[in-house]
Amino acid sequence: GPNTNSSYTSRGFAMTPAQGPFNGPATPVSVGLEAPRPAAVRTPAAAPTPAATSVTTPGIETTAASNILSGYHPPYSATIISKLQDAGAIILGKTNLDAFGMGSSTENSDFHTTRNPWDLERVPGGSSGGAAAAMAASLCAASIGTDTGGSIREPAAFCGVVGLKPTYGRVSRHGLVAYGSSLDTIGPLTHSVADAALLLGVIAGGDRHDATSSHEAVPDYLKGLQSREQLSSKPLRGYRLGLIASTLDEGVDRPIHDNLQRAAQHYESLGAEITTVKLPMFREGLTAYYLLAVAEASSNLARYDGVRYGLRVPADGIKGMYKGTRSQGLGAEVKKRILMGTYALSAGHVDAFYKKALQAKTSATMSASFELTLTGVAPAQSLPQQALPGDDLWLRPVALHAVPQMRKVVRDEMDAALRDVDVLITPTTPSTAFKIGEHTTDPLELYRGDLMTVNLNLAGLPGISVPCGFDDSHRPGHPLPIGMQLIGKAHGEADMLRIAHIFE
Ligand code: GLN
Repeated sequence: GPNTNSSYTSRGFAMTPAQGPFNGPATPVSVGLEAPRPAAVRTPAAAPTPAATSVTTPGIETTAASNILSGYHPPYSATIISKLQDAGAIILGKTNLDAFGMGSSTENSDFHTTRNPWDLERVPGGSSGGAAAAMAASLCAASIGTDTGGSIREPAAFCGVVGLKPTYGRVSRHGLVAYGSSLDTIGPLTHSVADAALLLGVIAGGDRHDATSSHEAVPDYLKGLQSREQLSSKPLRGYRLGLIASTLDEGVDRPIHDNLQRAAQHYESLGAEITTVKLPMFREGLTAYYLLAVAEASSNLARYDGVRYGLRVPADGIKGMYKGTRSQGLGAEVKKRILMGTYALSAGHVDAFYKKALQAKTSATMSASFELTLTGVAPAQSLPQQALPGDDLWLRPVALHAVPQMRKVVRDEMDAALRDVDVLITPTTPSTAFKIGEHTTDPLELYRGDLMTVNLNLAGLPGISVPCGFDDSHRPGHPLPIGMQLIGKAHGEADMLRIAHIFE
């Protein structure tokens, strides 16, 4: 690729050399350009575990990191794979993820937990954690991830690489193992914004196999970067960037807050005008996201029945076969989400609580109900009893009824803000990479980490996470990467990439 050499050296990757073994094979759909390989980074000799990844690759096992898909060799290629190969890319391998994309740490993979090359005791983020870790370890020149609520951007931030989530529909979903179909997107993880622009240009575009794909013309994203750069010493003069105030408030680690402020100052020195914008509904998106995502997932994952794909646990009758296959094949987190989603969608519950649903109008009530939902159903083993409706849980269906409206409110608020500014800015995550096991007992804490990222999926807007400094307050001398998220207008990737590129 034309930009790869300079970008690798300029970013440098003077990372903590990874000592331990990397888990699993190299990348999902890794694009073999000319990546350097630091001596300290080892490439696994042979795949010790099944290959994961949630994009179909003909002839290569495609599991989405779930046991239920083990042994599934797709008969066709995902559109993005064909496009990458047509452009000359070499697929090196596939990487690990949280099963079906459900998670923020890769700890929900049925195969193993991928480690963060910056600190092997920490998670690489998720769900596309393997793709991000493979990039941080320079195992490949670029990788592909999927993003339903942050799964490209969050691991990119935790691993110190660039992660691009395109506008919904910009990249065909044909061949993607579905999680939440109205939220799912596919995008690149790269070492530089220029590489992300290059890859997006290759994978974007309309596709007759995906009716939701956008047929809008694909600009030359890479060319856009270069021409802009040469303009002047104040290349961002005339640009307006909006910092979302609430995303720098409580709940965000101090070093992340400080780095974002420094980034804003840097942007100012490049000529941009920085404003602080208030988006009161921004924090509420999380409620709508988790209800919608589990509802769509419960429906999408019904197809894994032992008949059509991967695993089949033989039994006497067909019901026994379904039961055995799904009991054994699906992991705890996936089961929990299917049950939450099935509960939320259940017609009986909707009828029973519809009147109360109409009474609950404030977003505060919706948030409270969401926490109840999640608290009520964890841990996964106790689900069947706890998922039964009870007086204290009456608000659950309320939240589901409110989802379309909340989704609209979140989107309208962001769209309105994006009429005044070119991009919105937030930290990508409230914290840097956490320790493996640190959040396994508190799923809500993990879900809350998605606060900054899920709204873009609800609204269909593009976003990019770019490296924005380090935090070594956990262990002096052991820096952990920080990510900054830029949010663009729908189909505004070209501008968003330009602004991100100039920051680098
Ligand atoms: N962490 C979020 C979830 O678990 C987002 C995952 C994703 O984008 N696939 O749903």
